[in-house]
Amino acid sequence: MQMMSLHETSPVLVSLFDEKDNLRYANPAFRQAYAVPNVPQLSWTDLVRSNFKEGVGTQIQTLDFETWLASASSRRGKQPFRAFETDLTDGRWVWMTETVQANGWLLCIASDISELKTRSRLLRQARDIAQRAAQTDVLTGISNRGHIMELLDQRLDELRNDGRSCGVVLIDLDHFKQVNDTYGHQGGDTVLRHFARTVQKVLRREDGFGRVGGEEFLLLFPGVEVQTLEHAIKRILDKVRTSKPLPEAPKFGYTCSAGMRMLHPQDDARSAYGLVDKALYAAKAAGRDGFVWANQAPEH
Ligand code: GH3
Ligand code: MG
Ligand code: MG
Repeated sequence: MQMMSLHETSPVLVSLFDEKDNLRYANPAFRQAYAVPNVPQLSWTDLVRSNFKEGVGTQIQTLDFETWLASASSRRGKQPFRAFETDLTDGRWVWMTETVQANGWLLCIASDISELKTRSRLLRQARDIAQRAAQTDVLTGISNRGHIMELLDQRLDELRNDGRSCGVVLIDLDHFKQVNDTYGHQGGDTVLRHFARTVQKVLRREDGFGRVGGEEFLLLFPGVEVQTLEHAIKRILDKVRTSKPLPEAPKFGYTCSAGMRMLHPQDDARSAYGLVDKALYAAKAAGRDGFVWANQAPEH
């Protein structure tokens, strides 16, 4: 109780999001800084989307909001704790910490650091921008190969240390060469971006999603069981199969295939990748638009 009444008066920005990333508490300082609308349910995505539209709250400098969102989502809530600097549109800049509980609730605390020296701030900002760019796939905004492999290493550590399970899935678009041949490289790029948005919509905050090659994507699902993972992948295959990604070719549809595995404590990132890659190959051989489990023990 005392804690709550202090939050109500503190200038520190405090907010709490549940496992679905819906906002469950925000103190007045946070509500004011992020112009939180008074609605019964608001997700983090809703909040940044409306911030971008209204030009309030988080400073979002981009011409392509969806790619910005994909990139921000590729870092949000993936580890128990992280801290970073961020700008507000009112000119303040804040030091933000995100603490994620095992049940998925996320506590966000931000303090005003506008007073800190501008010179060192500009250096830090340049470093942060470079760091984020080094983790991001330019075409889609999701994690690039390096970042998703880093996340895979983290999931392996969690499995070994805390026994937290993780599903690993490699997805490759089917007959993608034909897409390029028919609709040109730009058409192909549009399909790749469409795929990234489609998948992102069904992922949870803690899931990892990276582009590891031309039309190959690696997904990480921490804490899932075999059946939930199958369900998630079926949903992705269904969404992709029934979508029409090219406005100029309204009849054109596409499919994808997946190889997957529950991470094993004896896996390492390379061996796990090798196994889902083999399973993906089997899914292609089996006729595509489906998934195959990699069940073999890792080879050492
Ligand atoms: P499969 O069903 O067996 O996967 O057939 P596929 O045609 O998808 O297989 P393949 O891996 O041989 O072809 C992938 C193609 O993806 C080849 C390459 O031209 C294209 N590609 C790779 N990167 C990009 C990209 O960034 N943009 C576009 N438009 N095409 C790309
Ligand atoms: Mg392919
Ligand atoms: Mg391929």
